[in-house]
Amino acid sequence: MEKIAFFDAKPYDKEWFDKINNKYKIIYYESRLRPESARLAEGCKAVCAFVNDVINAKTIDTLAELGAEVLLMRCAGFNNIALSAAKDKLRILRVPAYSPHAVAEHAMGMILALNRKIPRAYIRTRDFNFSLVGLTGFDLYGKTAGIIGTGKIGQVFAKICTGFGMEVLAYDPYPVELDGVRYVTTDELFRKSDIISLHCPLTRETRYIIDDNAISLMKKSALIVNTSRGQLIDSEALLSALNDKRIGGAALDVYEEESGLFFEDNSDKIVTDEILSLLVSRPNVLITSHQAFLTEEALRGIAEVTIQNFDDYLSGRELKNEVKAQ
Ligand code: NAD
Repeated sequence: MEKIAFFDAKPYDKEWFDKINNKYKIIYYESRLRPESARLAEGCKAVCAFVNDVINAKTIDTLAELGAEVLLMRCAGFNNIALSAAKDKLRILRVPAYSPHAVAEHAMGMILALNRKIPRAYIRTRDFNFSLVGLTGFDLYGKTAGIIGTGKIGQVFAKICTGFGMEVLAYDPYPVELDGVRYVTTDELFRKSDIISLHCPLTRETRYIIDDNAISLMKKSALIVNTSRGQLIDSEALLSALNDKRIGGAALDVYEEESGLFFEDNSDKIVTDEILSLLVSRPNVLITSHQAFLTEEALRGIAEVTIQNFDDYLSGRELKNEVKAQ
């Protein structure tokens, strides 16, 4: 029976992979995949990894030396892989789509929670503080949503926004025909939007797409939501804008320095990331821990496609979910 070394395993991963898999021996490791832990994959033809694993040249070389042939990413993004180092050493397969609804719905959930201050209200009422002072939000109806990246998730998010009666602006280098969506330049999108939601991948072009300059164009009341990748936002610029009241608020499911912090319980540790500590403390910032994908439908889809990817590799079928090493 072929073996899969499964890194960064959480109880919800184990639950769904054990439900779906009946062909392979999966060895679950809590440790993230990184150069120091790669040796755990000894004897496994496949390695299963996730968004914050450190898959640099050293990790890849170690896996290849140990005889691993395929890297099964159980996520869509692959910006954490040194692709050039994998060439001729490791085939990389991913799950390009599981539930775009999971992420788009979470993005809107965060906007609603941030705008209507629901987490603050929840904390107050648990202490029998029924004051409404400081909890004023704004109607989404009639306002403008700006969407950066109209792929699978961005399109679902656009539909949710039109359902709320919002005007929808979008920017994507590859526009598509979408009901109720008008493509504009990023400058126009930043200037006109009341909420700005990021749904593009992290690439050289999109890194820090939200920087000081972008923020300077935005309305002072604008809310930014990021459910894509942390490095799309220059966090220092965001914090400075929040401090100067140049921006209305931010809902962050991802953070540029999340690796090693997100997905883990750090409540008994001293977190030394000053920017994150300050962001967490702001009343107009809402942070979730890379949770947007976390629905039953998405977890099932991830497990099914990951196992299917390994099946396809072993049986020599076309690898439609392969990420080509460059
Ligand atoms: P997708 O590939 O279907 O769509 C991405 C879109 O971004 C495409 O339309 C592409 O043309 C566009 N794009 C590329 N470069 C761009 C640029 N410079 N400016 C604007 N748009 C650009 O991907 P998807 O399934 O919609 O996922 C989007 C992102 O969501 C992923 O890359 C991933 O980082 C993130 N994601 C996050 C979670 C989570 O749990 N938080 C889960 C899944 C995916």
